[in-house]
Amino acid sequence: MARQPVQLPIIVRVPHGQRYSCHSCGACCKDFTVQLRAEDLERLERQGWARERGEAVTTTFRGRHFLRQRPDGSCTFLQPDGRCEVHARFGLQEKPVACRFFPFSVVPAAKGAIAGLNFACQSVQRSVGSAPASHLDDLRQMVVDAPELVQRPRVSASTAGWGSRRTPEEPGEVDAVLKGSLDIVANAGVPGERRMAALAFFAQSLLNADLSRVRGDRFVELASVLAAHAADEVVMTEHRDPRPSEWALFRGAVHLRTHAPRLDALQAQGWLRSVWSDLRLARAWRRGRGAVPAFRALGELTTRPIPFPEVLAIHPTEGIPAAAAVDGLLSRWLAARLLGERAWSSGYYGMSAIDGLCALVVDLLSALWLARLHSAALSESRSASGTITLEGVQWGIGIVERTAGRVPWLATTAESLRLRGLARHGGLLALARALQPFSASPGRPHTS
Ligand code: SF4
Repeated sequence: MARQPVQLPIIVRVPHGQRYSCHSCGACCKDFTVQLRAEDLERLERQGWARERGEAVTTTFRGRHFLRQRPDGSCTFLQPDGRCEVHARFGLQEKPVACRFFPFSVVPAAKGAIAGLNFACQSVQRSVGSAPASHLDDLRQMVVDAPELVQRPRVSASTAGWGSRRTPEEPGEVDAVLKGSLDIVANAGVPGERRMAALAFFAQSLLNADLSRVRGDRFVELASVLAAHAADEVVMTEHRDPRPSEWALFRGAVHLRTHAPRLDALQAQGWLRSVWSDLRLARAWRRGRGAVPAFRALGELTTRPIPFPEVLAIHPTEGIPAAAAVDGLLSRWLAARLLGERAWSSGYYGMSAIDGLCALVVDLLSALWLARLHSAALSESRSASGTITLEGVQWGIGIVERTAGRVPWLATTAESLRLRGLARHGGLLALARALQPFSASPGRPHTS
């Protein structure tokens, strides 16, 4: 007799005090390429949109089905009032599954499915609305159409390792990486710039260590000691600038986190030309010469070409109140990614806990680089010398969160090799210092 899958309870895990309610800003409907399930296609067909409009509301790309977008990238169902037309006419349960869940993420874990929040949502970033647990009934309804999210995960080599993709999980190891990371992010006694550097140090130390015989309790002890001393270690570790090769790898990582190809444009170009233009774009990012290649969100800020050096000429945030606000947001975001299990395993492309933690550090550094780009783009002079702003950090986090765990090009072996290249000689720490966001030590982080 076939065994029934075990249904797990849903546990909402978000930073202390985090709030969320949708305020219909419509931002998520302008940013995401929504992939559809077979049930979504049936539902949209039943609702009769294609008949009513005289054209398809979905499109197919490389064998997968997506909601169609307008020329500006917004969803075909986004109304002028920021609401979804499917929701307005048929109700929440009739929307595609991916749209219904956003900004929640649900990943299966051993003790219960973990619900977290995505910081691409402006209400989540600003922490406005009701307590996330008040959405539990909606989440239970949603998983009716996505039951795999609440079924007990298999512990397999590709989804739960802590060191390499070939290493199976042992009890407590992933939890030790999680606890160590959270302890670093939320350490109220350490200034913000050192906490960010300490997270980079912790991640790259774990990735570079030979852990083949450090297993189980020994690994838990190692992770705990490393996390407890990471903030002191970064003070004692010699400062060096990132190497040109590390900057090139990092710019490649930023490119992948800002890449939002328009499906209809790709279809019109044809496969070969679209691959060729992708390769040229990736090369322009890696070389870092001339202007930052245009991408959709940047085009909304300015049409002025921004030379790469202008981005790094932007100074850290000035003044304690601004620095505290930036620090609070960054700390809450990192804690949300960790608590919501969106840093590794089924929450992040099946990566091991250590690879996933390095990717999270690259996400953090990418958001900080983008925050500088934001200030450079809004600067009227070409000799930009502005500072990082809270709006810039919100913009950077929003862009990075749109790709985190959702786009195929971050789930490749090339990305894992890029993370290793960045961590191998201490590049993550060097980049964390070069991109540090505070010139004044911010106050206490708002996480728990
Ligand atoms: S970004 Fe957040 S607040 Fe805005 S429409 Fe989407 S879910 Fe609602």
